[in-house]
Amino acid sequence: MFEKILIANRGEIALRVLRACRELGIRTVAVHSEADTEAKYVKLADESVCIGPAPSGMSYLNVPAIISAAEVTDAEAIHPGYGFLSENADFAERAEQSGFVFIGPRPDTIRLMGDKVSAKDAMKAAGVPCVPGSEGALPDDPKEIVKIARAVGYPVIIKAAGGGGGRGMRVVHTEAALLNAVTTTRAEAGAAFGNPVVYMERYLENPRHVEIQVLADQHGNAVYLGERDCSMQRRHQKVIEEAPAPGIERRLIARIGERCAEACRKIGYRGAGTFEFLYENGEFFFIEMNTRVQVEHPVSELITGIDIVQAQIRIADGEKLWFKQRDIAFRGHAIECRINAEDPFKFTPSPGRITNWHTPGGPGIRVDSHVYNGYTVPSHYDSMIGKLIAYGDTREQAIRRMRIALSEMAVSGIKTNVPLHQELMLDARFVEGGTSIHYLEQKLADRSEVKKD
Ligand code: ADP
Repeated sequence: MFEKILIANRGEIALRVLRACRELGIRTVAVHSEADTEAKYVKLADESVCIGPAPSGMSYLNVPAIISAAEVTDAEAIHPGYGFLSENADFAERAEQSGFVFIGPRPDTIRLMGDKVSAKDAMKAAGVPCVPGSEGALPDDPKEIVKIARAVGYPVIIKAAGGGGGRGMRVVHTEAALLNAVTTTRAEAGAAFGNPVVYMERYLENPRHVEIQVLADQHGNAVYLGERDCSMQRRHQKVIEEAPAPGIERRLIARIGERCAEACRKIGYRGAGTFEFLYENGEFFFIEMNTRVQVEHPVSELITGIDIVQAQIRIADGEKLWFKQRDIAFRGHAIECRINAEDPFKFTPSPGRITNWHTPGGPGIRVDSHVYNGYTVPSHYDSMIGKLIAYGDTREQAIRRMRIALSEMAVSGIKTNVPLHQELMLDARFVEGGTSIHYLEQKLADRSEVKKD
């Protein structure tokens, strides 16, 4: 097993990876920006290296600084966490060329899945159902584009092949608006992602976001760890995630899960990954694959009892999967609330010093956070400061435990979205389960209408 791993990330996921390493008896190197010198995981790590000033472009995205930190500390492997360089194929390649193990898929797999057009092609070939749409990238000829849209059927969505983070997409309802939308999305995609290639999909009106977690080793074995429902989204950002997805037949999950595992075997996938689907009227439609650990991985850990971060490390070390699909039992229900440093009504970021931080506990409660009393939330990074996860035998019990946990959570000095979560845990439609990806936005819009009145 590795003796030392460098954690190329910050915040709660840096701490999460550190804990996994400790349990495996692996020493850790934390890298940090000047803004994160005081972070808990930096102090807890066996070694730490400052890799640059606060802006992430100069630190957490600074490839040469991270590689040389791994060199000077004699680390053997690099865990990229999520965000930052985690889905950067060039970084994975640089790390491997410099003699380090990249804890993630092979660089060419990251590249294949990072381009949504090639990812969809690969998935179609592997038998994974995709959203109906253009065969690959849209051509230049306007007449052809009009023809494709007619065949796909309106409304359609124009999406950037290189898009991410919910950006680079445009919904088109009528033929009159089509060509303009394609031109604008191309221009935006070129500017934002350096890749003007766009493709077209049918726009699903009321889907849920349901994703499948997979694990694959380097010896051709792959399993799925069930699904997560991440439909509670604001601006395409997940707010609440849960497993299992309420109301979907296990038989359907098993079928799509097995397809994903099979796709992993076909493309030679390595490590943890997530197949993201839109789910509508009993059907799954693949939209993209994330080739890294996800924020919401704990809900799958709680219902399967499998430590996904440890699994990533053991797989990267060459270990053969130590269980088979039939050994994986799904038990109970887990819900995760992302705790953000932000105004719960206006959603403006709320960085600053946390004067009091009290987290809940009790049966079935897990808190993944790097925050402590007196910690200052830097303004340079994502506003997520932790995750509150509740587990129960049933969904009802998980919700009840989450309500209690949220009521015990006390944070002063900054604003958080805890009040929003409290509202959602009491929301009749959420409690019923199975809301679509538009539900939260609609609710928030209604809420601000009421306020105006
Ligand atoms: P990103 O990589 O930017 O997250 P995705 O392809 O995962 O892009 O899409 C993000 C979100 O956009 C989805 O979760 C969904 O809310 C919406 N979306 C994407 N494609 C479609 C589609 N064909 N129909 C309806 N909504 C879509």
